[in-house]
Amino acid sequence: MKLLKDRILNDGKSLAGGILKVDNFINHQMDPVLMKSIAVEFVRRFADLPINKIITIEASGIAPAIMLGYLLELPVVFVKKAKPKTMGDMYLSEVHSFTKNRTYDICVSREFLAADDKVLFIDDFLANGNAAFGILDLIQQSGATLLGMGFIIEKSFQEGGKRLRELSDIRIESLARIKSLEVDKVSFEED
Ligand code: 5GP
Repeated sequence: MKLLKDRILNDGKSLAGGILKVDNFINHQMDPVLMKSIAVEFVRRFADLPINKIITIEASGIAPAIMLGYLLELPVVFVKKAKPKTMGDMYLSEVHSFTKNRTYDICVSREFLAADDKVLFIDDFLANGNAAFGILDLIQQSGATLLGMGFIIEKSFQEGGKRLRELSDIRIESLARIKSLEVDKVSFEED
């Protein structure tokens, strides 16, 4: 997606350790116009699938997921990273965070994932794929079906994309695939 890649080149900052900072338009300040274009591109890539629900994980997946849910007129469920005291029956899993170097619980209420759901997962980044596998675990616990996973940015020099694409029957789409990140230099995969 050229618009997104241009924005990454103009406003993204590549830090040491293979981290891309996109605080200016995705992770802190958000650009709703770009987010709408991102959602339109996700519609183009996933609209043929019989999805009835979008799932994401707090916090940075929520903006693209809600835009997409608005366009497709589908409910959006966000998985929580801490177990709320008020939440009763839930599915639980664990995720190791690459950026924060720690393991945390993720959970979703049983009320919002059912065995007949056909789900699309949306997130901001795909790195090692740990968040995505945690979400897949929650979906499998519920008996629902994961049909697709859409990421705004994939760092293809990390193993997540390869691990996810080995799963059959799940469509994986990333709108900008980063081949290498050096300090102040971002290179993309050819589309
Ligand atoms: P994974 O679970 O695929 O290793 O990492 C995915 C999560 O880690 C994303 O949801 C995102 O929050 C965070 N993440 C991974 N790499 C980066 C990065 O380079 N920049 C930012 N801003 N977040 C990242």
